[in-house]
Amino acid sequence: MNPTFRFAPSPTGLIHIGNLRTALFNWLQAKKTGGRFVLRFDDTDQERSTRAFADGIETDLAWIGIVPDLVVRQSDRVRLYDEAAERLKSRGLLYPCYETPDELDRKRKRLAARGLPPVYGREALRLSAEEKARLEADGRKAHWRFLLPNHDGDPAITKRSEVHWDDLVRGPQTVDLASLSDPVLIREDGSYLYTLPSIVDDGDLGITDVVRGDDHVTNTGVQIAIFEALGLTPPRFGHHNLITTLTGEGLSKRSGALSIDALRREGYEPMALASLAVLVGLAGSIEAMDDLDALADRLDLKDVSPSASKFDPAELDRLNEDLVHRLETPAVAGRLKRFAVPTDDHDAFWQAVRANCSRVNDAAGWREIVYGEVPHPADLPGEDAAFLRETLAHLPEGPVDEGTWSAWTKALKAATGRKGRQLFMPLRLALTGLDHGPELAALLPLIGRERIAARLGG
Ligand code: GLU
Repeated sequence: MNPTFRFAPSPTGLIHIGNLRTALFNWLQAKKTGGRFVLRFDDTDQERSTRAFADGIETDLAWIGIVPDLVVRQSDRVRLYDEAAERLKSRGLLYPCYETPDELDRKRKRLAARGLPPVYGREALRLSAEEKARLEADGRKAHWRFLLPNHDGDPAITKRSEVHWDDLVRGPQTVDLASLSDPVLIREDGSYLYTLPSIVDDGDLGITDVVRGDDHVTNTGVQIAIFEALGLTPPRFGHHNLITTLTGEGLSKRSGALSIDALRREGYEPMALASLAVLVGLAGSIEAMDDLDALADRLDLKDVSPSASKFDPAELDRLNEDLVHRLETPAVAGRLKRFAVPTDDHDAFWQAVRANCSRVNDAAGWREIVYGEVPHPADLPGEDAAFLRETLAHLPEGPVDEGTWSAWTKALKAATGRKGRQLFMPLRLALTGLDHGPELAALLPLIGRERIAARLGG
C-alpha cells in the first residue's frame, strides 16, 4: 500500500509557521515516498470552526505549493463516528459519566493533596442504572469516557500497561496507560472531541503515517489503544518539535501570530517560509531552497531536534533576501506588472534592481525612481552643481544602452578631471535622488535620455 499522509488542522484560525512545519513534514514525506496527502479539517467544534478559516488554510497551503490529493471535513463524516461510538458502547468500552467540571476539579485537588496523580478514578463506572436515571432526571447530561485497557478485567484495579511505538522522529516510545485518565471522547452536548473522529478517519482514509507536533505524544498511547479497540491498525507516528517565538512563547492559531497569511501580505516568498518552517531545528544549515523538491531532499525526520525551535524573524528576512536575489524575471513578472513597470522593460528592470531588493515589493520603490519624479538634489556644493550642468553635454549620442554609462563617465573624466566617487556621486544623486542603489550602468537605459536630461536640469 502506498503511504498516505495527512495534515489535520482545526479551522479555528489562520495557520502559522508552526502549522506549516507540520503540513510540510507530511507533504514532503509523501512526495519522497510517492505517497498521497490528505487535508482533513478537524471541524467538530462547530462553535469555533468556520468555513472561512478552512478556505483560508487551503489558500495558504496552495500558495506554498501544497495541493492535497483529497480534502475531507469531519463535519461531513459524523455518521462514521456515531457508528464507532456505538461499537465501543456496546462493548462497555465507552461509558457515561456525569461529573461537572467543578466536581472533577475537586477530585483532582483531593488526589493532589494526598500526593497522588490526577487520574480519573472511574467512579462513574460504579453508578447503578437507578443512579444514572436519577442524575438524568435532575437534568445532568452524560459525557463519555473510553475505558483504557490497563486492567485485567476489573477496571477498579489498574496495572502497568505499556504502549510502544517506534516514533518516526523520536525513536522508540513508551506510554503507560495506567498513568492516564480514561479520555473523554464525547462531550455532554453530544459533540465529539478530536480523539475519536481522528482515529476513525485515519482508519477509514487509510492513513499510514501521522507526523504531528510533539504536544500529541501522550495522546498517541491512548490513540493506539483506541485504534486497537476498533480493530484498526494504527498508523506510524512521528512527533516533531514545536516552533516558539524568540522569547519561547508558543504560537497560536487564534492570535494570528506569525500567520502565513500575514507573512504573505508582508511580501515574503513562499519558499522562504517553507525553508524556514522545515529547516529550523534540523541538522545542517538553514538555507533558502529554490523549490519543494530541493527541500524534500533536505528532510530527514530523524534529524529533527528534540527541543523547541525558535523562530527568528531576522532569519526569515535573510532567507527571503537570498531567494529574491536569485529569482528570475518570469517568477516576478506578475508583480512587476502590478507595480506598472513597462512590460518591455521587465527583464532589464528586474536584473538591474533585484540585488537591491530584500522583498520583491521593494521593486515598487525602484520603479518610482526609474520612471517617476526624482527631485533635484538640494544643497549640493557649488562645484558639484556646476559639474552636473556640464554632464549632459557629454552624454553619448544614440540610444542609451548598457555601454552608455562607461562611455559617458570616461568622457566626463577626460573633460573635468573628476574620477571615482567625486564623479559618480553627484550623478547618482541627480539621477536617482539617492546616494545608493542599483548599478547606474543598468539603470541608465531604463531611465532613458529624456528623463536623464530632465533630472540633470537640461
Ligand atoms: N486537529 C489536531 C490538531 O490540530 C490534529 C492532531 C493530529 O494530527 O492528530 O492538533
